[in-house]
Amino acid sequence: MTNLSGWGRFPVAECRVIRARTQTDVARALSQGPLIARGNGRAYGDSALNPDLTLDMRGMDRMLSFDAETGVLVAEAGVLLADIIAAFLPRGWFPGVTPGTKFVSLGGAIAADVHGKNHHVDGAFGSFVDWIDLMGPDGRITRVSRDHQPELFGYTLGGMGLTGVILRAQIRLRAVQSGWIVQDSYATRTLEEAIDVFEDHLDWLYSVAWIDCAAQGAHLGRSIAMLGRHATPEDLPEARRSAPFQVKRKRSLTMPIDLPGFALNRYTVHAFNTLYYHLGAWKAGRTLVDWDSYFYPLDAIRDWNRIYGKRGFFQFQCVLPTDSARTGLHQLVQCIAASGQGSFLSVLKRFGAQDSRFSFPQAGYTLALDFPANDRSLALMKTLDRITLDHGGRFYLAKDSRMPSEVFAEADPRTEAFAAMRRETGLDAAFASLQSQRLGL
Ligand SMILES: Cc1cc2nc3c(=O)[nH]c(=O)nc-3n(C[C@H](O)[C@H](O)[C@H](O)COP(=O)(O)OP(=O)(O)OC[C@H]3O[C@@H](n4cnc5c(N)ncnc54)[C@H](O)[C@@H]3O)c2cc1C
Repeated sequence: MTNLSGWGRFPVAECRVIRARTQTDVARALSQGPLIARGNGRAYGDSALNPDLTLDMRGMDRMLSFDAETGVLVAEAGVLLADIIAAFLPRGWFPGVTPGTKFVSLGGAIAADVHGKNHHVDGAFGSFVDWIDLMGPDGRITRVSRDHQPELFGYTLGGMGLTGVILRAQIRLRAVQSGWIVQDSYATRTLEEAIDVFEDHLDWLYSVAWIDCAAQGAHLGRSIAMLGRHATPEDLPEARRSAPFQVKRKRSLTMPIDLPGFALNRYTVHAFNTLYYHLGAWKAGRTLVDWDSYFYPLDAIRDWNRIYGKRGFFQFQCVLPTDSARTGLHQLVQCIAASGQGSFLSVLKRFGAQDSRFSFPQAGYTLALDFPANDRSLALMKTLDRITLDHGGRFYLAKDSRMPSEVFAEADPRTEAFAAMRRETGLDAAFASLQSQRLGL
């Protein structure tokens, strides 16, 4: 038995873990009862935890084929995006969509149908997936795609491991001309101005805003909004043009200890946010940023999740539809600022349209925040749930560890169809996580 948790370190569960290296190992594990597949444990909550049987897929990490003309890659589910970047960025290819950490597995990226800073242009990870080899309850492998078993393919994107075990997949990488990003950043005085920056620059491939959610009154929701696009050789200084993919390796720091609970309070969060805002404002304008610093600033500090101490932390991430986003976001940020529980990392992104079976994104704005795991933040999140529901929004399962099933069902009318599909096909008897049990999926 092994103590396991997601990245938020809450909840922790004692789990029986089997590590798969081959598809035969996966089939054997499936014959032992209901299980959940686990990638690299970067989902924040309990979506990759099953005390009875958790199937660790990191041992299936082989890259199987690559077409250097088209950027089409076939790889096993346990391959990390970090491995894909290390292998293919020097040859001019980058993941079509990436979340804010490169330490996610291919299986985890598909199962959560992760989004990046380019959702408004490209959609989620699934847009770049051609097919998936999925192992079902009986150990049989089905190659699902938009043409073959499209329903199962659609439900597997964003299905949180509840439709089968992803063994391998074919994905398309994006051709890029350098390892650099041209970044334009703006310090906005309010949340409304930040939204204007997104709306005025929908033609930029990447956009994201960091929000100071401790600021109140006239400064409510002030932000550092950052736009980005892949740099061409012409964007680079003369000296870098001959080696456009060469970037300096960053030294990674490690969070050496669990910070004590009292280190995080209204004052430290306010001080951090104020400092971060002013630093961002000072550096606003056009800069050239290497890919690792641009996409993965948090990866530079290994084990940064220890900052919240041993009790761990919650993430709250919702998306509000475009029409109600301005008023809804205003209410969410106002409520957080007034509570004095503002988080260090509040991130706002613009989503484009997405018509999918169970994935999280929909056209509008998504807000992600973290809070220490305690009763006060649980109470605050209840209010945030209500505001989200009242504005027609929904919630991201890859970040959730505490949502009541009624809230999830009310937010997302697709929930009942997903649960019914699982019941009718017998998938519910083979694949389950603590999260699926809590949410009645
Ligand atoms: C710092 C940080 C930043 C992040 N930023 C973003 C972001 O910008 N956008 C975003 O969308 N997400 C983001 N995330 C969340 C993360 O991308 C997702 O949770 C992703 O699913 C984690 O992948 P993993 O391999 O660690 O999977 P795990 O956490 O191990 O599992 C996640 C889900 O995938 C399923 N799964 C994993 N492997 C398989 C498989 N082989 N077959 C079937 N199911 C499988 C699990 O059952 C589980 O439901 C972030 C996470 C962190 C820690």
